[in-house]
Amino acid sequence: MSEPLARLPGAMQSGQLMTLGVMGGGQLARMFVHAAQAMGYFTVVLDPDPVSPAGWVSHHHIQTDYLDEQGLAQLMQRCAAITTEFENVPSGALYTLGSQRFVAPAANAVAVAQDRTLEKAHFVRCGVACAPYAEIHTLEQLHEVPEALLPGILKTARLGYDGKGQVRVATREQLQAAWDGLQHVPCVLEKMLPLAMECSVIVARGADGTMVHFPVQRNVHREGILALTEVFEGNVPPTLVQQAVASALEIAKTLNYVGVLCVEFFVLEDGSLLVNEMAPRPHNSGHYTINACDQSQFDLQVRTLAGLPLTQPRQHSPAIMLNLMGDLWGGAHLQIVPDWAAVLALPGTHLHLYGKLAARKGRKMGHLTVTAASPREAQAVAQEAAKLLGIAAF
Ligand code: ADP
Ligand code: MG
Repeated sequence: MSEPLARLPGAMQSGQLMTLGVMGGGQLARMFVHAAQAMGYFTVVLDPDPVSPAGWVSHHHIQTDYLDEQGLAQLMQRCAAITTEFENVPSGALYTLGSQRFVAPAANAVAVAQDRTLEKAHFVRCGVACAPYAEIHTLEQLHEVPEALLPGILKTARLGYDGKGQVRVATREQLQAAWDGLQHVPCVLEKMLPLAMECSVIVARGADGTMVHFPVQRNVHREGILALTEVFEGNVPPTLVQQAVASALEIAKTLNYVGVLCVEFFVLEDGSLLVNEMAPRPHNSGHYTINACDQSQFDLQVRTLAGLPLTQPRQHSPAIMLNLMGDLWGGAHLQIVPDWAAVLALPGTHLHLYGKLAARKGRKMGHLTVTAASPREAQAVAQEAAKLLGIAAF
């Protein structure tokens, strides 16, 4: 960072000159930084990693732990408002920041989203159905688990993402072994459900209570990780669209949420809709909004943080987003370079790479969004791109 910028009092607002901060330096923070900078804001990222995707592109990078007092003090000194890019930022850090700065989403909302038991209790409070489950904090609770929850998925209450911290169990013996393997941390056991499809809704809510939302996204997961998202008319039955949007808005409103929130849903084989989980931030299933909507989920994150008006975003093109996982690079040494030129020769392709230096199986390295004039065309191009990249057909 240049010296003049270092002297800039972060909390000072003169015209558009305001500095926005983000906890976490992954790809979501990177895309937030891009959106904030496009609107003229200075940005500060706090992330312990010296080579984070957002650290590369932000005006300033504070390289400390999330709970480091000096790091947090610096962030508050430099920034007028602070957001978060992942739910596992310790909520204590957000409480500290929130005592002196505008923080969105607020620490208490993030605390609910980062704990599956609190999250499910919130869904119940909102009258939105979720998968049958039992809390497992003690051995007694483990023994009392109803037979009807098996086969099920044992999920750690905290710190899970991309299918991590989850074990599929068919019997009580497997359940016991799985809980032993997870070191007896608090968990929930969820009944394994027959899924017909999965979808998500991204909502933005301003400090004045204004709410807007993106269309319902249809998501395909592979090995517990989002593989692709399809968004166009008819991707999800219309009655479910209404229900999913209404549920997501209710979940945000009842939490008194400020910021961008994603709610994930299961559609069962019998056609019923259940809420799965929520993320207190922009979401992988909303990356298509950068290229297919008149405002992206990151634009709305900036607006909610800076106290700017929210208007309902409009999708202007059917879209399919393919996640580009580390597998495409052939492992840690990046020995394969995917043939981007061949992919970009297809019409309506938008390549986003996150600047990660090491590829690992299951690591999100980037995404490709295909926009087209019609859903059929988007599907044809996305299938072709998937074939060129070695991604399984869908
Ligand atoms: P994460 O925090 O890793 O995203 P999720 O709870 O969303 O955890 O689980 C990841 C994926 O695993 C889901 O998107 C879904 O495909 C599958 N899954 C999770 N819970 C269930 C369930 N109860 N029944 C069937 N599939 C499930
Ligand atoms: Mg999930």
